[in-house]
Amino acid sequence: MTPKNKSWTRRAFLKAACATGAGSVMTLKNIPLSASEEAVAVPTRPFGKTGIEVPILGFGTSLHVSFSRLLLRQAFNWGVTYWDTANTYMGGNSEKAIGKYLDKYPQDRKKIFLVTKTHASTAKGRNRDLNLSLERMKTDYIDLFFIHSVWSVDELDNQTKSWAQKAKAAGKIRLFGFSTHSNMPECMLEGAKLDWIDAIMMTFNYRLMHTDKMRRAVDACVKAGIGLTAMKTQGGGQVRNDSQTELDLAGRFLQKGFTDAQARLKAVWQNQNIASICSEMPNMTILMANVAAAINKTKLATRDTQLLRQYARETRSGYCAGCTDICESAVAAEVPIGDVMRYLMYARSYDNRRGASHYLKKIPKKQCRQMINLDYSLAEQKCPQKMAIGKLMQEALKELS
Ligand code: SF4
Repeated sequence: MTPKNKSWTRRAFLKAACATGAGSVMTLKNIPLSASEEAVAVPTRPFGKTGIEVPILGFGTSLHVSFSRLLLRQAFNWGVTYWDTANTYMGGNSEKAIGKYLDKYPQDRKKIFLVTKTHASTAKGRNRDLNLSLERMKTDYIDLFFIHSVWSVDELDNQTKSWAQKAKAAGKIRLFGFSTHSNMPECMLEGAKLDWIDAIMMTFNYRLMHTDKMRRAVDACVKAGIGLTAMKTQGGGQVRNDSQTELDLAGRFLQKGFTDAQARLKAVWQNQNIASICSEMPNMTILMANVAAAINKTKLATRDTQLLRQYARETRSGYCAGCTDICESAVAAEVPIGDVMRYLMYARSYDNRRGASHYLKKIPKKQCRQMINLDYSLAEQKCPQKMAIGKLMQEALKELS
């Protein structure tokens, strides 16, 4: 999974990175170049016990309104060959864009680790979604098929196990697992007990990775041989909190030759148990900056990590940690607080209001009306991040409707 591209040597890449402004984030000074002008290739890591090596940087496509074949081509050429999509992403356009790419470059298929997902909960629904994904992406197999956005391992029952085994036997999927944005440590701990889960993709970043629960969850998955992919690695929140630590961090990282965004990727990569990071890269500048971070060997110092943790503590009331078991059981109606918080994050931290609105509009109108009038005071008392849940729910509905 390390394609060579003779026209983009490491030296040429770094020169271009400097010229585009992504270079402001990496300097030639701290990336030693060999005289041999080696090609740019993102490093790889073993993906659990699957026997497959994946690049440490994956291409996420959940929020792209459209992405060009050129961007995918360049990602491929730099070794970003882990491509993550879902049948619902951008109303199916994400899978269709990948299909257009594979139609033009069918020879690349074997080198791409292709991941897609379904929300369907029945065998019939999963078959329908899997077949549609195969058709849209012009391929006859998916490397990794996820049950999408699992919030409790109860969703992974024997019927799911049997479906996964049949899909594998039919050669339509190679690996099976689930993604989770809610109650991640609990889902991972329970998932590790199931011998038919090959991989998990979970929210994981400098804010969450140091908690005891998350450490235990990662250890359990490693022991079980589960391949782990981190997502939401920037730890972007729902509220901007001014913090002197953030300024200090930005200055500190710039002196080392990278941005705070690149440092956050590095914080995750420093955990060797994480095989890959799935990152939204909607344009060439972000792709280039992330690739530069992936090939750069400078490690974060202990003090850098301490400062990131300090920043996480100072700004915790602006970041939803996805522990939906806590708040959603403390309100009088069934409302998806965690999902709404995530959409607000897409709008405010990813600067993608359009994508956020697209997802919010999928919540039934009746539920939206319930959300407005609900009393969130008990949920706010219980929230470990001390978030102003009621106010944020109101703001999300107003901003994104
Ligand atoms: S709002 Fe608070 S309790 Fe609810 S998921 Fe977010 S951090 Fe957890």
